[in-house]
Amino acid sequence: MDFELLEQHYAATYAVQAQRVLCIGTRQNMAVPYQAAKSVLVIDALASALPLPVEKESIDALCVQRDVLQVDLLWFFIPEMLRVLSPTGTALLIVPSPPSAMAGEQAAAMLADVLAAQETACRLLEWFELTGHSGTVVLVIGPPGAVGRLAPYYPDAHLMWSAPLLTVRGASLRCNLCGGQRFLPGPGGRIASNGRPPRCQECGSLERHRVVQKVLAALQAGFLGERSLLLVGDTTGVPTAWFGSVDRVSLEDVAAAQIPHHYGAVIACHVLGFVRDDRAAFDRLLDTLLADGWLMCVFPDALEQDISIDVEHPPLFHRYGRDVIARFDCMGSELHVLEIEMRDPGSGVQMAAHIYTREPRIVRQMQRWLGMDEGFRVRAQMQPERRGATAKDPFSPLRAELELWQASGRSCPFWWRDDDLVCASPELNKMALLAAEARVPVLAAVIPAHTDGRLGEDTMGMAELSFCQHGYAHKSHVAAGVPSSEFGNGRQLSEVAREIAEGRQRLQGLFGERFIPVFVPPWNRIAANFIPLLEEYRFLGLSQHRDEPSLPDSKLITVHCDIEILLWSAASKATCKPTQTLVLELVKRLAKLRTNAMEPEPLGVLTHHRAMKDDAWLFMHTLFAVTAEFSVVRWLPAAEIFSTVRKGVA
Ligand SMILES: [Zn+2]
Ligand SMILES: [Zn+2]
Repeated sequence: MDFELLEQHYAATYAVQAQRVLCIGTRQNMAVPYQAAKSVLVIDALASALPLPVEKESIDALCVQRDVLQVDLLWFFIPEMLRVLSPTGTALLIVPSPPSAMAGEQAAAMLADVLAAQETACRLLEWFELTGHSGTVVLVIGPPGAVGRLAPYYPDAHLMWSAPLLTVRGASLRCNLCGGQRFLPGPGGRIASNGRPPRCQECGSLERHRVVQKVLAALQAGFLGERSLLLVGDTTGVPTAWFGSVDRVSLEDVAAAQIPHHYGAVIACHVLGFVRDDRAAFDRLLDTLLADGWLMCVFPDALEQDISIDVEHPPLFHRYGRDVIARFDCMGSELHVLEIEMRDPGSGVQMAAHIYTREPRIVRQMQRWLGMDEGFRVRAQMQPERRGATAKDPFSPLRAELELWQASGRSCPFWWRDDDLVCASPELNKMALLAAEARVPVLAAVIPAHTDGRLGEDTMGMAELSFCQHGYAHKSHVAAGVPSSEFGNGRQLSEVAREIAEGRQRLQGLFGERFIPVFVPPWNRIAANFIPLLEEYRFLGLSQHRDEPSLPDSKLITVHCDIEILLWSAASKATCKPTQTLVLELVKRLAKLRTNAMEPEPLGVLTHHRAMKDDAWLFMHTLFAVTAEFSVVRWLPAAEIFSTVRKGVA
């Protein structure tokens, strides 16, 4: 039961991109579900590990197993927990259940007391409780936005909201760039409109810098990671590593219109007020955007007054007000606008940011995504859509289907398998890079007889890859004219047994714990009489193509691939299927899964990195970007798909 809870918490925190994980409990229960995290620390015994041996605010997800958190440790543990959690980090605590020293509910009440007594706690905390697990009390604790974002990943049946646990007003003001809590007056002795000093003593940030980062931190990867950014003016508050590439330009460059036109995002924070012809500068910034690009502007005082005024006090020419959208004549053009209001984490003052784009989808998705976070108030101003005004996007049927999943709130699982790995190559690097950028795990099926001895070492830094067995030598033993198969009916059992065992041993030696005991038969075919061999050699799972005839029931977990992106000719030459065809295949399968009442089996996408050309890589790249727009989509790691827990659930 604990394992399922932990795995569920893993799924939820992974979906919101928790990367640094601290597990407290026995290694066996803890390490497995977090295989895809960037760093995982496991501590067996809590008492001897206090204070926790990690840096302040360095943990995104903390899990404490049952029977570890003894009641007399609470007073020592809770302050440590608050210290190590990152500003968006969450903790899952499984509170001791009977027959431990104290009943679960009693322990939870005491935990609440301990939390409320933390004078040093300087953020808002919220929790929810999961009940119904034989008296166990399970708490998920963290700042309100973070906890709110996790909640949809837990089945409603167990969910119980409580009021905010702890509210320490004033003390919760904290710089989201550096964590600093001391603030000074701004340039020229300026004080924020709510009377508080706005400048962070540690990093020098002002209100506008902190709200830029607050918005960027809340957007999901698809809006940032793939995009080239044009940054106008100041870089403070913009973590440039979050974007694909970054170019910086000055105000003068904008005025002189010397900017190329190929950006996925433009950020202009407190810039336009310093340009005399601000409308022309605004239009020029828009001109630098790609078709689905977005422009973010922060007008620092826009909420302070109703009407924008021209001040003519060089270097400042304009002070903007709530009419800023009308000011730039957005409604007369083809622009869609998202207005975002939020509290500056450092001064507590209300601020606004605006996102402008010609692509209505961007505004709708950001509105939905930011709307889930109670730290933001968002309002969209959309232009009526013009039929056929833009070129048809071949991925729009997929977006339409995923909109339906999103609306239903059901988790939509995918997974990625890649076949025929033998050794390091530029294509392998390409795959690893794509996986890392998209944060999508991939199960690489390796041909044991053709690997070189260095493959284990060569793939060491490829964190998103895990490995499984792809037959033995990828050699067909069937007669000409019959569909190729390495393990067809005609072969000797003893010979096949030797090959399977040898292959498994070789891969286990190369990859150690990164080897997942899953068998992928070459050409996706294996005769039924060899299946008991796989069980005998302790394979957990089998993966073929869904179109292959199904095999008799066995102990193996079978999860197949649904979509193969390449088309193979008789001479084993591969081309990428047309995007429209692939999108339709995906939509057909997803629609079938959506209308099925059972828990959906993950949709498997199959690639062959060695045979892929630019069009195939572009398809995968775009597929990841499109699915990243939907918070219900998860790309599952193989360790999770082929785990016994999952089989138990299904
Ligand atoms: Zn700071
Ligand atoms: Zn193959």
